[in-house]
Amino acid sequence: MDSNSSKPAGVRPAGAGLGNNRDSTRQHNLSTVLGLVHSSAGLSRAQLTRTTGLNRSTIAALVGELVQLGLVVESDLDQSQQHGRPSIMINPGPSVLALAVNPDVDAVGVALVALGGNIVNPVRFHTVRAPSMPEVVNIVSAVYAGMAAALPAHFRVVGIGVAVPGLVDPADGTVIEAPQLGWREQPLAAQLAKALQLPVACANDAVVGARAQAAFGAGREVADFVYLFGGASGIGGGIVSGGKLMHGATGFAGQLGHMLVRTDGAACSCGSSGCLEAEVTREELLRAVQLPVDRAEDLEQSVLGLFASGEASAQLREVLSRQARLLAVGLRGVVHQVNPSLIVLGGFLRILAEAMPDIVEGAVSLGAARGAREQVRIELAPLGESLILVGAAELAFAPLLADPAGVLRAASADREN
Ligand SMILES: [Zn+2]
Repeated sequence: MDSNSSKPAGVRPAGAGLGNNRDSTRQHNLSTVLGLVHSSAGLSRAQLTRTTGLNRSTIAALVGELVQLGLVVESDLDQSQQHGRPSIMINPGPSVLALAVNPDVDAVGVALVALGGNIVNPVRFHTVRAPSMPEVVNIVSAVYAGMAAALPAHFRVVGIGVAVPGLVDPADGTVIEAPQLGWREQPLAAQLAKALQLPVACANDAVVGARAQAAFGAGREVADFVYLFGGASGIGGGIVSGGKLMHGATGFAGQLGHMLVRTDGAACSCGSSGCLEAEVTREELLRAVQLPVDRAEDLEQSVLGLFASGEASAQLREVLSRQARLLAVGLRGVVHQVNPSLIVLGGFLRILAEAMPDIVEGAVSLGAARGAREQVRIELAPLGESLILVGAAELAFAPLLADPAGVLRAASADREN
């Protein structure tokens, strides 16, 4: 987000101050360089020098310290440079990891993620019903024990990031409510931290998806975008406005699944009715193509395959067209309220945009007042769980990215005690 602007604000030359001031400048510059390497998944020294405005010897010293910390690696010369001297490439190191967790109604996703958003070994642990909070803690503990045992000795895991399909208290990572999981007031962050002895950060899954989009995805170069994700647990969203993720007064902005889209609509888990997520559901699409929940990964292929071969039933067409129209109602509201330049649709919402493009794209190009609808484009988020896992890892990496040397020193001290 902020760190993706071409020239980060507030970069100070190393050595500009004395004592603590010099330390904080160095920490700030280390953080800036690591952030750039992380979100670009690799940069040349020349690009770092240009982007930060720091001089070449300062960049060399900062990169040297990050190499020593195991956070970045220097590799072959950048061959893409046509002119001038070739420059050494700086890539995210593979040995510093975050554990990403995504509990869902039918599975718990767990993966180690390296800097640069590289997913190392994703595991989707299927459950016969929605897992309870203690079950999630047990599953993650068991899966992590296996992963950790297979890691080389010098690899380290700096923390756990959890994407939760529900409302999360940003202050302490308590899950206030996750209706589809049947959770209320579950101290997930505290219990995971106790079980795995690692720092834990939790956030709503759609907010996590928006963070991943902003750091690595379609939203990377965009200051104003809206991310909408549809999954087994409903529809969530995240709004990035002016380069910043909107939090709201208590951290719950972006509950786009609860936009009213039909006045006499179906009852919603929030207690209201006619909400987007009550009207536009993955369950109804699964039923329309007669797929069981445990084959939900095949839903998109299945629906689009039936369309391509002209075998889509009248019922399927009716469901898709109705859901697409109701999604369009929601999108039209978003366009006018937020004035984004980009809307990213993820999860099963992709299917509605692909099968009914006229309806979904029409929402942002027709019937809307001229100003806001101009230049809004719709893009599809990549398939699968990877975006959510990368975003969850971002939560865990945040302290490291802010103070690379400090966090690793503290982690090493903990390990020696
Ligand atoms: Zn609702």
